[in-house]
Amino acid sequence: MSTLDPARTVVVATGNAHKLVEIESILAQVLPDVRFVALGQLGDFPDPEETGETFLENALIKAESAVAETGLTAIADDSGLVVDALDGAPGVYSARYAGVHGDDAANNEKLLWNLADVADSERTARFMSVIALISSDGMVLTGTGSCEGRIGYVPQGENGFGYDPLFLPDETPGRTMAELEPAEKNAISHRFHALTDLAARLAPGGAVGPTA
Ligand code: IMP
Repeated sequence: MSTLDPARTVVVATGNAHKLVEIESILAQVLPDVRFVALGQLGDFPDPEETGETFLENALIKAESAVAETGLTAIADDSGLVVDALDGAPGVYSARYAGVHGDDAANNEKLLWNLADVADSERTARFMSVIALISSDGMVLTGTGSCEGRIGYVPQGENGFGYDPLFLPDETPGRTMAELEPAEKNAISHRFHALTDLAARLAPGGAVGPTA
């Protein structure tokens, strides 16, 4: 089992304000003894290019870049929506599915268009998240999580971000992710499961201790 010095500040490396809020809220529960700071609070660092072909590769790129920029331990998430009827698309390209990075409305519209002829039983999908933690002295830890559901027919709900208005989690029948309260989403989300997986690989509470 690995360890993390709770006295050390851990940088949360994401330029996505929605993700930042979710990650910090979940981390406060799963690693309550560790101090976190958003990368954006330490300076105006450009987002690294996400050249990876997997969530893991892109999470590592983002965490490595933040460690290089700050000299501090950093944590980064790469995530996306995997739709079975689309052979896993949009996948790692979720943020830029319709062309422009982060255009949620256009991405949702394209998703609905591509699923127009797909029957209810075939609209299964999952959100995936890979979290990478890289310490200032080079320890690398990762966590993986998913949230199973299906894609609806019309956007519903105002909460969350990205594909949330179209994603119906299996655990909340009849309600999209965007219709859940933030705490409800954070209790079932792919990001919650990935951060919990990561925390389980650390010594209890992220406390200092001998590396196993
Ligand atoms: P990333 O910033 O490269 O990891 O891109 C993540 C993209 O995946 C976001 O822009 C969203 O389109 C999508 N995504 C990831 N997590 C979520 C979520 O929790 N809800 C809705 N969409 C998400």
